[in-house]
Amino acid sequence: MIFPTAKTPQALAEAAPQLKPAFLLASFFAGLFAAPSGGAAEPACAPDALGVARVIDIDRAKGAAIGLQTYPRTLDLHDHEVVLTFDDGPAGPTPQVLDALAKECARATFFLIGRNAESLPALVKRAAAEGHTIGHHSYSHPEKTLRLMSEDAAKADIEKGIAAVDKALGAKAAPFFRFPGFADTPELVADLNSRGYTVFGSDLWASDWSKMTPKAELDLVLSRLEKNRKGIVLFHDSQAITAQMLSEFLRELKKRGYSLVHIKPGDTPTPIVDAGPDWTSTTEPIIAKTLGPKARLSPQTHEHGAQESAPKSGEP
Ligand SMILES: [Zn+2]
Repeated sequence: MIFPTAKTPQALAEAAPQLKPAFLLASFFAGLFAAPSGGAAEPACAPDALGVARVIDIDRAKGAAIGLQTYPRTLDLHDHEVVLTFDDGPAGPTPQVLDALAKECARATFFLIGRNAESLPALVKRAAAEGHTIGHHSYSHPEKTLRLMSEDAAKADIEKGIAAVDKALGAKAAPFFRFPGFADTPELVADLNSRGYTVFGSDLWASDWSKMTPKAELDLVLSRLEKNRKGIVLFHDSQAITAQMLSEFLRELKKRGYSLVHIKPGDTPTPIVDAGPDWTSTTEPIIAKTLGPKARLSPQTHEHGAQESAPKSGEP
């Protein structure tokens, strides 16, 4: 399902000591391979590493809602360009995910759960120090989703999450937000957008909340990518199978001629492309099925062109 259960703070605290050796080892190797001079903390990577082909600035002055599985528009990527995103961390498998990315000099965006960031602040700092973008994914990842909470309660959970991640990071994270379970509301999206937050859906996902082997996940996400040819890919760094398949996935991207695009907050307009006329939401039928009729948005909300006809008063 698209609502992976977030780990409790207790479970995370129990898992934390086990993270230490891997974390220390990674720090040691990062130090070992650091550039000898010039002050750059960038670790050296293999000559044939995947790396990052280009960086796209996401306009911090003007929020948007993008990702074709939920919204009728997405990032204007070239053929065979991929943006990597990870939800629900920091968590037990996060160090392994970071190690795999570091080995390939790859960069990703992490949408963090606030209470997890409170429990594992060192991993938040490590992800940022290794060049990844840190975004937000609510404080509590509420099981009933933000859509079924009162607007005030949902806003409070979002704000508490932002504060917790920023505190763990020791700086302001990117104004990037992803709704748990993609269960947004037009009001919450408008509020975030008006404050410069871009709301991210995804263009394809790895279905790593399902029970399968790492190899099955690898085959599944690669087949989806070959079909889409590009896109914002959603993984969960809270899922052990994703951590286990990630190195091989990154090697396959390289082998198959894909290139990585890193996203970060910037001051230029976000390059956005509209979906075709036959666009439909992938996530709404799943949300309706999972949460019941109460969770249904009015049919117009996410329809193609809805943003164009919506009042612009909420935008800066
Ligand atoms: Zn999530």
